[in-house]
Amino acid sequence: MNPFSFLGINAVSFGIDRVEQLAEDIAELNRETSEIVVISDFGVAKAGILDRIRSVLARSRYHVTVFSELAGEPHAATVDKVAQLLRRLDHPFVVGVGGGSALDVAKLAAVIAEDEIPVEDYALCARPFPEPGLKRILIPTTAGTGSEVTRTAVFTTSKGNKVWAWGHELLPDKVLLDPCLTVSLPADITAATGLDAMVHAIEACTCQNRNPMADALGLHAIRLTKQHLMTAIEKPEDIEARSGMLIASTLAGGAFAQTGTAAAHAIGHALASVAGIPHGRAVTIGMEVLLPRNAEASPEAHAAVAEALGCEKKADQCAPAFSALIDQAGVDRSLVDRGIEPETFTGVMMSEENLPMLQNNARPISKNDGLELTRWILVR
Ligand code: NAD
Repeated sequence: MNPFSFLGINAVSFGIDRVEQLAEDIAELNRETSEIVVISDFGVAKAGILDRIRSVLARSRYHVTVFSELAGEPHAATVDKVAQLLRRLDHPFVVGVGGGSALDVAKLAAVIAEDEIPVEDYALCARPFPEPGLKRILIPTTAGTGSEVTRTAVFTTSKGNKVWAWGHELLPDKVLLDPCLTVSLPADITAATGLDAMVHAIEACTCQNRNPMADALGLHAIRLTKQHLMTAIEKPEDIEARSGMLIASTLAGGAFAQTGTAAAHAIGHALASVAGIPHGRAVTIGMEVLLPRNAEASPEAHAAVAEALGCEKKADQCAPAFSALIDQAGVDRSLVDRGIEPETFTGVMMSEENLPMLQNNARPISKNDGLELTRWILVR
């Protein structure tokens, strides 16, 4: 077994209608300011979730500003704009509400607001984040990225590359998990984000940095996702299924926060950069292509995943079980008509920001493997 460090998970509170106690949560963490900034996006606002947050906070002493201009996955310019808004206020308390996109903007803006430096300067750990950052609570509304418990955040640079930033400073002071906030998720987003959680868990349990403590989180995330995803898609108001999925995605985030992600994420980030494929779909495509080859490279780890997926404890059961779940969930993995040029795609996939994920894969992928991997992805 390799040596490892387990960094733990930050404070998480789960409950049906848990968001009703938001003002008390803020008061516990914050004695300095009466300013709250809620950071979210159009889709979350349209689903009525921000109205609910506003009405919860209207019963408190706080002055509330809402930023919900975000649309789609985050760009550096949006993060800088939100950070600027935060700098203009007197040490506001930040509440991030939404899917991974809104949460990543909230995480980054709350930390970089301490300084005047643009977010791109922090990409790929080029410089350390300032400390301590503004106090913050994160409330995920997809299930999901697990961003609420990870030390990373992802954004697109001015040159169009999807990159990550990393640091313990990105962790929030508290996470609220309220499954009621996920019932408005449309079926296609429930499916793609649910498979994203599954991919996080599989990569955490099978990558080079896997360890038994991360396995405990990841394998349970796989069991819960297998148990609840289809019900969440087919019966959107089923609170037990929504609860199971929300807990699964946080556990999967907690697992990969220890181990890092692997090649499905390098592929996913490249598909986002080159063809604008949304995150959940993109990593699902990558994982499906990799699983048969990865299972051969680390059979024991994949046998454990197969068992968590409800199959026999055999490595070669993993790939068919994952593909069957994608079929059932109805996630479109076709890349035809996307006009993806193989050499451009390979160049992006093998670029500096993706190398750590490729090297952490169950079957490590070297620079020379790039074109072959592209063929697997584009010619299926
Ligand atoms: P998302 O945040 O982009 O949301 C997808 C869509 O769903 C948006 O239109 C949003 O408005 C809508 N939506 C969200 N919650 C809703 C709800 N309850 N009801 C109705 N609509 C709702 O999607 P995502 O998959 O959660 O996040 C993707 C982003 O997260 C990507 O940028 C990805 O790279 C990043 N990510 C970050 C981490 C991390 O650890 N920081 C991990 C994985 C992915």
